[in-house]
Amino acid sequence: MKNLYHSTRNLNSYLSSHEAILKGIADDGGLYVFDAIDETPFQLDNMLNDSYFELAEKVLKKLLPDYKDSDILECVQNAYGNTFDSKEITPLQKVGEDYILELFHGPTSAFKDVGLQMLPQLMSKALAQEEKQKVMILTATSGDTGKAALEGFRDVDNVGITVFYPDQGVSDIQRLQMITQLGKNVNVCAIKGNFDDAQSQVKKLFASEELVVPFHKQNLNFSSANSINIGRLIPQVVYYFYAYIQMVKREEINVGDEVNFCVPTGNFGNVLAGYYAKMMGLPVHRFIVASNANNVLYDFLKNGVYDRNRPFHKTISPSMDILISSNLERLLYYMNHKDCDKVKELMDELTNQGHYEISKSLKEAIQKQFYGGYSNDEETRNAIEKVYKETGYVMDPHTAVGFKVMKEYQEQDKTPCILLSTASPYKFADKVYEAIYKEPLDKNEFEIMQELSKKTNTMIPAPLANLVNMEPRFHDCIEKDDMLAYVDKKTKEMLL
Ligand SMILES: *Cc1c(COP(=O)(O)O)cnc(C)c1O
Repeated sequence: MKNLYHSTRNLNSYLSSHEAILKGIADDGGLYVFDAIDETPFQLDNMLNDSYFELAEKVLKKLLPDYKDSDILECVQNAYGNTFDSKEITPLQKVGEDYILELFHGPTSAFKDVGLQMLPQLMSKALAQEEKQKVMILTATSGDTGKAALEGFRDVDNVGITVFYPDQGVSDIQRLQMITQLGKNVNVCAIKGNFDDAQSQVKKLFASEELVVPFHKQNLNFSSANSINIGRLIPQVVYYFYAYIQMVKREEINVGDEVNFCVPTGNFGNVLAGYYAKMMGLPVHRFIVASNANNVLYDFLKNGVYDRNRPFHKTISPSMDILISSNLERLLYYMNHKDCDKVKELMDELTNQGHYEISKSLKEAIQKQFYGGYSNDEETRNAIEKVYKETGYVMDPHTAVGFKVMKEYQEQDKTPCILLSTASPYKFADKVYEAIYKEPLDKNEFEIMQELSKKTNTMIPAPLANLVNMEPRFHDCIEKDDMLAYVDKKTKEMLL
């Protein structure tokens, strides 16, 4: 049992990591967890000379114990071998007195690439063990996940992917990134409605017998590419080790010293990966959880009450506009003595009443390791401007949310802190330009990128610059009630 996964909500069935990756989410609505994660922690002394690739192999071998070593080696090479524009994959920059870990050097210029370049690799290896099995990935996106998933799954054998985005809900750059996607197994479609409409409809499709059962009979399953899948979460553990080792190499810290990480947070996936690294032996004092105006996690970390009944704010850091942080469920499991019944009770309360409250002792245990803060749009713009004026470093709005919260926290704790940078500033060039130069630029997205590049003397990532030359391939826009028929048709065309 030790080397198997089970749901956060019950112990009745165990799966291999292959199976957990193919399924994504447990039938009872829980997320897959691995109980041996905190046994025999890594010895950092043996990792100081490892490359990113070697660290990735070590982390994946431990958390995916039924994958063959040779398969893991191949997955790591395919995922990161020539897809990132930095040999280091996630380079650590010193900016003024601060350390910034840049997670956006992948093909779509957001940190989601780290997980979504790996997930399709792991899924292919899992599929290869099943006779004639095929998978259709369905994903609703508010912008970054859709493109990163399309790029990751493009031309993967026996897998198709359909991405739905809200027709009014994504930036021009994000839409262009998606509708120009290359690959023979990909499909992109706009939905008349907002992100929640698209998301809740996709969830219904997974549960629709009318859609799913006939395909099951032909060995085809539907699966999801969002961050509840362990195949997307686990690759993110690697860069926490990588960042720490860079700090040791640069003699900023000694092996064994504690550090803090500040993480701009939405679904709690990224920061949870950091907690996994801590359980595996990384000396972390605290995680600083940074939210935008959708500060449900800030309230939770302060009061121990999670309450999603609140207004939804559209902000300049849209990838963090989230009120249900799914991966928090895993933290509750690990921090509450791995008690599935308790997790189920809390999650049932969330479903039925929209809120839950944890015990005082659990709250205090969580507060020891996690600090919550938030930044409104005004503060975020000020952070972008201040950092640029003082250091010449250009930050995207999500990273700037983190920067603001990190500075506020550092007044009480001087432990060296690493800020995770989750997107290239060029993905949100208009917002960044406006923050630095104090007025919007009335030009198209590409002209704004050019202008930002010229004025700040920084480079536009090649895939974003090249978008201007790409032909749109996908023009469908449908009502949300037509999604079932649409998926049925596209799945048959693509995979049967
Ligand atoms: C998805 C995303 C986040 C939030 O990450 P979580 O894992 O959901 O907490 C932050 N910044 C950017 C740019 C993102 O795309």
